[in-house]
This record gives sequence, structure tokens and C-alpha cells, in this order.
Amino acid sequence: MALGVLALQGDFAAHAALLRQIGEDVVEIRRTAELDHVRGLVLPGGESTALLRLMRGEPWFAALRGFHDRGGTLFGTCAGAILLAARVENPAQPSLGLLDVTVARNGFGRQADSFETTLEAPALGGPVGAFFIRAPRITAVGPGVEVLARLGGEPVLVRQGRVMAATFHPEIAGDPRVHRAFAETQPEPAAVR
Ligand code: GLN
Repeated sequence: MALGVLALQGDFAAHAALLRQIGEDVVEIRRTAELDHVRGLVLPGGESTALLRLMRGEPWFAALRGFHDRGGTLFGTCAGAILLAARVENPAQPSLGLLDVTVARNGFGRQADSFETTLEAPALGGPVGAFFIRAPRITAVGPGVEVLARLGGEPVLVRQGRVMAATFHPEIAGDPRVHRAFAETQPEPAAVR
């Protein structure tokens, strides 16, 4: 089964290209009904407030929670990570609550709002190059959340069950390891919720 990339707003084309490069079939998702044709979904970076506005056109929150309950995998990057989080600050806004983390929007401040750096990512086999663009900061993680990469000790790539999130843009550096880790996440129905 293919992987989907939410194509309402933001950096979806680069995610689709990188997933195709690692051999995945990719479907761009613009309607909730299209979720039936994919095993996993990337929520790309962009602007979370713009995404929330575009999602008013259809019952996206119910559809995405249902997709997760049916066993689908989810990977949110930057604005997409903000959408998945349980708690959003600076300012607070609605989110899916599928990942037990707190995120602060634009958490790196104005001085360093966009930068390129190298992450410590032993779970991915070594350092990973990463671009941060007006990125959120993960300020708290729940006990069930695994940290796959850190920047200066802080979590920047996390996974909880079938839900993965990166506060950076893994599609820009062109290193496919982060997308491969997502593609290898097994879809399976949720036990109890
Ligand atoms: N600052 C954006 C937001 O709050 C996220 C930026 C990004 O996705 N690159 O939604």
C-alpha cells in the first residue's frame, strides 16, 4: 500500500519526492476520503494556522483520528508536528492530540528562527543534517515517547507507537534516513484508546 502526503499546504512536493526516491508509492492527499488508499501519512511543514484554516473545509480532525485508530501511521514535520501534539503553546491552538508532547510554536525565537545544523541521532545510525525553519520546540514529552534525535540535548525527532514527529525539515537535506524510519513504521490497529 502507498504512503500519503497531505497536500493542502506547505512543503508536500519535497516529501513526496524523497519517499519516491526510497522506493515508496506516494499519493498526494487533498480529501479525507483519499486516506482509505494509504497506509501512512506525512503532515508536512508549512504554517500550522494556515493548515488549520484549510482543514475547515472537511472534517479532517475526525478523519485523521479515525485513520490512526484504524492502524495508519503518521509523520508530522514542523507545522505537521504541531498538529499532532497533545498540547500547543505560544499561543495555544487546536491539535489532534495523537502524540504525547507539548510544543511551543516558533520556539527558537527571532535570533535563530531558521538555521541548518547537525543532530545527534544514534537511533538513525549517526549524525543527521537538519534544517529548522521557524521551528517549534518540544518542551515536554510523555513517558511513552521515544526520542530518536536530539539537538543540544533537546528532543527534535520523536516517536510514539505509529506516530512520528520532527520539529525540523528532513525533506530539505535530502538524507532519506528519517523518511525511511517512517516508511518502516508498521501500520496496525490500535489496541484500546
Ligand atoms: N512556525 C510555523 C507554525 O507555527 C511552522 C514552521 C514550519 O513548518 N516550517 O506553524
